[in-house]
Amino acid sequence: MNTQPFLGHKSKDIIPGYPVLFGCPLDLTCTYRKGTGEAPDSIRLASDSIETYSPLLDRDLCDVQFSDLGDLDLAGQSLEASLKKIREATLKILENGAKPACIGGEHTLTLPIVEAVKEIHGDFMTLHLDAHSDLRDNYEGSAINHATVIYQVCRVIGPTRLLQLGIRAGTKEEFCWMREHRTLMEWTGESQKALLKRISDVPVYLTLDLDVLDPSCFPGTGNPEPGGWFYQDLERFFRILDQVNVVGADIVELNPTVDPSGVSSITAAKIVREVLLILAGNPDSS
Ligand code: MN
Ligand code: MN
Repeated sequence: MNTQPFLGHKSKDIIPGYPVLFGCPLDLTCTYRKGTGEAPDSIRLASDSIETYSPLLDRDLCDVQFSDLGDLDLAGQSLEASLKKIREATLKILENGAKPACIGGEHTLTLPIVEAVKEIHGDFMTLHLDAHSDLRDNYEGSAINHATVIYQVCRVIGPTRLLQLGIRAGTKEEFCWMREHRTLMEWTGESQKALLKRISDVPVYLTLDLDVLDPSCFPGTGNPEPGGWFYQDLERFFRILDQVNVVGADIVELNPTVDPSGVSSITAAKIVREVLLILAGNPDSS
């Protein structure tokens, strides 16, 4: 049961061209610290404490259309059944000409969403922000989980359609693979132009694993990894993302149960607001 809609937004109508928020409390394959299933509720609650206006984008969520479908009911269901449900929910949004904005949940949910995006948009670029490469072909005996999800995504879109940022953990084989396929991008002060060039003429899908942020500013995640991005790095990224055609996004891996301060949930809510504004588009640029 949902505690409340994101930022008090009550519309459940899917509006063509605009973002449609839905929560996926998927928490089945996490291997270290469970709790991501509580993230959608926690983000909705935390949204109460943030402004609707974004100084970064100079736009207000009150002035754009978006809908909030609430959370998918995944309780007691198998991984296979859950993924099918997520895929069908995403397809319904895309078939109505709208843009899926999913709040997780564990990272595994990206696979069925990307499958649905592939079906509707065909050729598109996936931007993957994460501390971890998630490129294992198998982890602890299973082929589909949050450590293999981007490997599985790659089987759908192909490695030339993947760009990875913030990655700082993985096996030697995963790093060799990223170097071989040139999927990993540096994120320095000079990287913005290079990123814009790579994504300016294709539809873009964003998968944002919140552990891309440094644990010092985002401790609420199952597998924290030191040496990460700070919020300002994400803001530089959002400025670029706001200039391209983003067709959908997911924001995953918040685990509110390991951050008693609540700061991680508030940070996640602020990120969701910016992503919704980016998906809704810049009225001045059209
Ligand atoms: Mn991660
Ligand atoms: Mn991940």
